Amino acid sequence: MYKFMADHMVKRACEWLRLMGYDISYPESHDDTDILAECKSKNLILLTRDIEFYKRYNRSIYMDSTDFRQQVREIVSMFPPDKHNFFTRCPVCNNPLDEISTANMDSNKFSLVKKRFKVINYCPVCKKFYWKGTHYSKILKEINSLIKNNTGNM
Ligand SMILES: [Zn+2]
Repeated sequence: MYKFMADHMVKRACEWLRLMGYDISYPESHDDTDILAECKSKNLILLTRDIEFYKRYNRSIYMDSTDFRQQVREIVSMFPPDKHNFFTRCPVCNNPLDEISTANMDSNKFSLVKKRFKVINYCPVCKKFYWKGTHYSKILKEINSLIKNNTGNM
């Protein structure tokens, strides 16, 4: 599976792509040389809006559009997503999510979640819980529109 690095100008697209399961790092450094060194050492495909930055690395993709939806569509058309990977990765930090049982969760804080779900997702890095609640259908709808407009045959 391909791994990516998104530069600071494609952060929003990066978060949407992570929701679809793409493995996309986001640089801690603002120094181009540091970012390129990380890309090279981990063999990452760089997604960038900076044409000069793009030219410095042969595994980079220049993101022509400033619109995150268009950026997502561009990546989706080149690297088709796998629906089985949707919602398996933390959109905040890119870490793969764990599946955890709701049985041992705090009954006061999470009574509704416990009632509705036996298993939910958890990011061990962010210590954040993810479940298929109200936001989920909105996110899925957005993802579907991003994919549909692109391929036209899904
Ligand atoms: Zn996380």
